Amino acid sequence: MSCSSENSTGKQRCREMLQKILDGDATPDEHREFRQHIQQCLPCYNAYELEMAIRALLKTRCNGTGAPPELIEKIKQQIQTLR
Ligand SMILES: [Zn+2]
Repeated sequence: MSCSSENSTGKQRCREMLQKILDGDATPDEHREFRQHIQQCLPCYNAYELEMAIRALLKTRCNGTGAPPELIEKIKQQIQTLR
């Protein structure tokens, strides 16, 4: 399974899976499935890596006090263009 641009159903499923992982809502099975999936799905891998990098950055920069909303919006827009 991979989310090519021609397969919008697969792509949608990818996004939902990614979102679950990022939200911490995924089951161990879903984690395993997702890890296997990003081995072969570059868009998901990139989105995941980017999201994790941003989260790590926000954590260090803001020290848990929360990032400015406009910064978060800006980053989200950058993610959208990559997707
Ligand atoms: Zn994918």
